[in-house]
Amino acid sequence: MKKIVMKFGGTSVATGENIRRVANIVADSVKKDCRVVVVVSALAGVTNKLVEISEQAKKGDEKKIQAFTKELAEKHLVAVSKAIVNKQLQKETEKIVANTISELKKVLTGICYVGELTPKSRDYVLSFGERLSAPIVCSALRDLKFEAQFFTGKDAGIVTDSNFGEADPLMDYTTHRIWQIILPLFEKGVIPVVTGYIAADQDGVVTTLGRGGSDYTATILAVALAADEVWIWTDVDGIMTTDPKIIPSAKKLSLLSYQEAAEMAIFGAKAMHPRALEPVIKKNIPVRIRSVFHPDNDGTLITKEPEIKSTDVVKAVAMIKDVAMLNVSGGGMVGAPGSYAKVLEVLGKNDINVMMVSTAVSEANMSLVVRRSLLGRALSTLEIAFLGRGLVSEITAEDDVCVIAAMGANMKGTLGVASRIFTAMAQKGINIRMIAQGSSELNISFVVKEKDGEAAVRAIHNEFKLDKI
Ligand code: ADP
Ligand code: ASP
Ligand code: MG
Repeated sequence: MKKIVMKFGGTSVATGENIRRVANIVADSVKKDCRVVVVVSALAGVTNKLVEISEQAKKGDEKKIQAFTKELAEKHLVAVSKAIVNKQLQKETEKIVANTISELKKVLTGICYVGELTPKSRDYVLSFGERLSAPIVCSALRDLKFEAQFFTGKDAGIVTDSNFGEADPLMDYTTHRIWQIILPLFEKGVIPVVTGYIAADQDGVVTTLGRGGSDYTATILAVALAADEVWIWTDVDGIMTTDPKIIPSAKKLSLLSYQEAAEMAIFGAKAMHPRALEPVIKKNIPVRIRSVFHPDNDGTLITKEPEIKSTDVVKAVAMIKDVAMLNVSGGGMVGAPGSYAKVLEVLGKNDINVMMVSTAVSEANMSLVVRRSLLGRALSTLEIAFLGRGLVSEITAEDDVCVIAAMGANMKGTLGVASRIFTAMAQKGINIRMIAQGSSELNISFVVKEKDGEAAVRAIHNEFKLDKI
């Protein structure tokens, strides 16, 4: 009997109707004699709204909390009424929604009075999206007469470090706990429905696995349960040659290696969380990305070594928005051992993740890319640490940029790829602000002005004829 972990993203559970569709997809597999664990994201947009309201609560805006929780309750109650037919089940689920919302209200009010939002309390607030969606999916399955049981990531046994906002699982302990808690049910034919994205640290405090982290929950569960496959159900047919929202004619990539898929995830192909592949790579568990709207399409299969080797050089191109570029320069950096390290260390110690680095052989300049939301903090941190101390004389920033990344395993060792990419940019009159190519040679990334981003993606998609791949 095949064991499959199925994860459903935000759009897949955006409405009550979609939740019914999800329940039917699970039911079809169970009827075909599969054992299924279901992992559920928050309803589309809810996590973003929780981010917003937690900021407003911090500013002491109590009125907004009232309006927000009312709207959130309504959204989920409408979903309950559409996803579940049985009146008794509807009532039970409404009660769970009401209790969860009332707890959220208390948390937000607390933040409002204290005027402080810590990474810990922020994770607690963000956990409510999945805590509201998963019980509805669980009831929708019961409504179809399947035995199902709801778990938070914490109750399912996922234990992480205390890196709030980007926590990682303690895999051995987590595996042991999931074996104890989930496996017996699973073997009895009960369908466990687990909240994605959220877990708890060793003290039982709620943590989150990073935005988009439900994919990670799915692969953690798959490894712990020694599943045969992970299916990531989403709103597109699979991993495509680029974001179909930019180029609607983007093609689905049917087979990808773990390495290629990880590279694409890291470089912004949102269809997959960047760290989600780590657990399954070690155990060689295949991952399939597929669409809830076209369940007959078998999606993208990600495995160790795709059976059919492709000859395409560039397979995909991504645009990463919401980034900013910092330029750190100064004659004092020239020939001074450790000067780059000092810059990176200061940022690292202040929890500012650097996404891309490029330096010139003149050694007088270092360019860095960080998330745009971290730019202000990155600038002030660097200014405090370096200005007036001889090493660095100027720090400048550009916040209207984006990163473009071209990817493909066959780029390694193939001559002329960079030249084709940059000629395509020149032909469109797009100026390149910064370039980086890692020695893995699986991708070339560069920075352009945000207004040129989509044109850059289109130019590369055309140059490598990705719509014919
Ligand atoms: P979910 O809510 O199911 O986790 P996400 O929004 O995280 O879904 O990811 C799916 C979205 O990723 C798609 O709707 C698509 O717009 C975007 N996307 C960006 N790049 C790619 C790509 N190369 N292939 C497929 N989807 C992509
Ligand atoms: N709901 C979370 C997010 O929006 C996790 C996820 O959807 O995977 O980031
Ligand atoms: Mg996602």
